[in-house]
Amino acid sequence: PIILTLENVSKTYAPGTLPAVNQVSLQLQEGDLLGLLGPSGCGKTTLLRLIAGFEEPDQGWVEIGGTVVAGQGEWLPPEKRGVGMVFQDYALFPHLTVADNIAFGLRQGKQMSRSVGRRVGEVLHLVGLEGLAQRYPYQLSGGQQQRVALARALAPRPALVLLDEPLSNLDVQVRLRLRQELRMILKAAHTAAVFVTHDQEEALSISDWVGVMQQGHLEQLGT
Ligand code: ADP
Ligand code: ADP
Repeated sequence: PIILTLENVSKTYAPGTLPAVNQVSLQLQEGDLLGLLGPSGCGKTTLLRLIAGFEEPDQGWVEIGGTVVAGQGEWLPPEKRGVGMVFQDYALFPHLTVADNIAFGLRQGKQMSRSVGRRVGEVLHLVGLEGLAQRYPYQLSGGQQQRVALARALAPRPALVLLDEPLSNLDVQVRLRLRQELRMILKAAHTAAVFVTHDQEEALSISDWVGVMQQGHLEQLGT
């Protein structure tokens, strides 16, 4: 099934300026990994923010998992879109352990239920961080922190994950290793993903599809 549809989506931030995103259309099937590539300022992050619900399109519509979430008179806020997100700066809660960071979006009350605890264990295993559940973010390396952020995004089993330059704050060695891992982790989680990068090698090694953006347009989309 189709997980994500963008139909002629445009976004201009200020009157008299060029559109940051200009009539972009694309579709993503279940489990597909799409890398968005292009020079700084071409609209990659804006496109991600339109999918996430941090921006509203001026034109066109966005459909996630068969539901129109923006456009056609509809609007679903980010927390109702069932989308996982991973940012460049990880944004982990510094006062919470790894386990509590991952459980954050899963738990209902104060106690961690057995099913939440089990899911936290599963995603820690998925990202290769078993044994670090009780650490705090400052006790982890950058690569480990990024894996926690990924585990937190995957914990609720989203059909779609959005990643904004997920590896760019890491040093070169870690970045190269995490590239391969990121693809395997996303595939093992059976989630579709859109990730933004300005690194062509990275886009090609992680994704099934690569989209090249230029001045707000999606110029090319292919394997
Ligand atoms: P072909 O590879 O022969 O063009 P496909 O059925 O693979 O035929 O794709 C047709 C077109 O649809 C492609 O050019 C591609 O741009 C687009 N497309 C197909 N699948 C996807 C996808 N998952 N995400 C984005 N675009 C897609
Ligand atoms: P990329 O992620 O490819 O670097 P962006 O989506 O961040 O590109 O930016 C696309 C264009 O929109 C740029 O010209 C940028 O200056 C502009 N832009 C981005 N965010 C804002 C904003 N919040 N307000 C006004 N203009 C913005």
